[in-house]
Amino acid sequence: MEIPSSLRQLIRVPQNVAIFSHRNPDGDAIGSALAMRFYLESYGHTVHVIFPSEYPKEFEVLPGAADVMIWDIHTDECKSILTQKNLFFFLDFNSLSRIDKMGDFVRDLPGQRVMIDHHLYPDPVADFMFSEPEASSTCELIYRFIDAMGDRVRVSPVVGKCIYTGIVTDTGSFRHATNPQIFRITADLIERGLDDTGVQDMIFNSNEERHMRLLGHCLANRMEYWPEYRTGLIWLTKRDYEVFGIQRGDTEGIVNYLLSIRDVRLAAFIHNQPTVVKLSLRSKGDLDVQEICKKHFNGGGHKNASGAFSHSSLRETIEKFKSILPQYKDQINAF
Ligand code: 5GP
Ligand code: MN
Repeated sequence: MEIPSSLRQLIRVPQNVAIFSHRNPDGDAIGSALAMRFYLESYGHTVHVIFPSEYPKEFEVLPGAADVMIWDIHTDECKSILTQKNLFFFLDFNSLSRIDKMGDFVRDLPGQRVMIDHHLYPDPVADFMFSEPEASSTCELIYRFIDAMGDRVRVSPVVGKCIYTGIVTDTGSFRHATNPQIFRITADLIERGLDDTGVQDMIFNSNEERHMRLLGHCLANRMEYWPEYRTGLIWLTKRDYEVFGIQRGDTEGIVNYLLSIRDVRLAAFIHNQPTVVKLSLRSKGDLDVQEICKKHFNGGGHKNASGAFSHSSLRETIEKFKSILPQYKDQINAF
């Protein structure tokens, strides 16, 4: 990674910084935002981290998580803070539409913008773009950014913890989207004081009883599998949400259980959110779910993990998903 000298200068002198990540922030979103916050604070910058919506409960214990501002909840306060900022970081997203109304507000603010992201097809909305779709995670890119600044010594155990959170979540604990770099990075983080097993424990052993009951319900009553398309689906209704007392983030990772079926190539999780129907698609190998999400549902993401929203009903969205499978049958069965 090459960092232009104008950006190096900017980072070495304290600025008033805002760091953003995407709606429904995941471990990579929150990990990259907090890692960048602590790195920048080591240079004396004044930093605020702002997300459009709340993050899942398991990340509450990350250092700095309690200071994150949520646009949906504190819109006016976020606006007044943002008007004082002159340097903006867009982390783990590459289009202002991913931060909704906050994007409209930020678009018109004066200041320099830096994008660090690993999603496909970035919009040219930043002065400095570090877009690497081959990277495992934005957190990997944060480490490489700090390294390229010549600042590995500033990777404290706290920064390491945040970076490792995103690497672990976006690779499903080193099961996919891996590369040699992230093992080297992880080794370096551990040598710098990271408690790696503690982070895995925070992320994966944080379920409550209702999460396990919900998972059981999904697998026993809400799962379909079509062998001819090597495709699995799990769906949840509004009523399921009420019965199980499900909150935002509680369904994270459920789609991955479908991938553990030996012959599966395509996995879908389709569920009712309060105002929209949300799709999460996952694939194995060469099957490109980013293209499927974009073409049929106006969504996006990565080749093997993408998402989208639909304004049709749950039933219609499921029907539409089923109806497009024949188009991909050859591709799905090709490997
Ligand atoms: P998830 O299914 O876990 O919500 O998202 C999987 C990946 O797709 C993530 O990288 C996420 O950022 C991306 N993604 C999810 N929903 C959307 C969407 O509506 N539009 C776009 N462009 N990307 C999405
Ligand atoms: Mn990510």
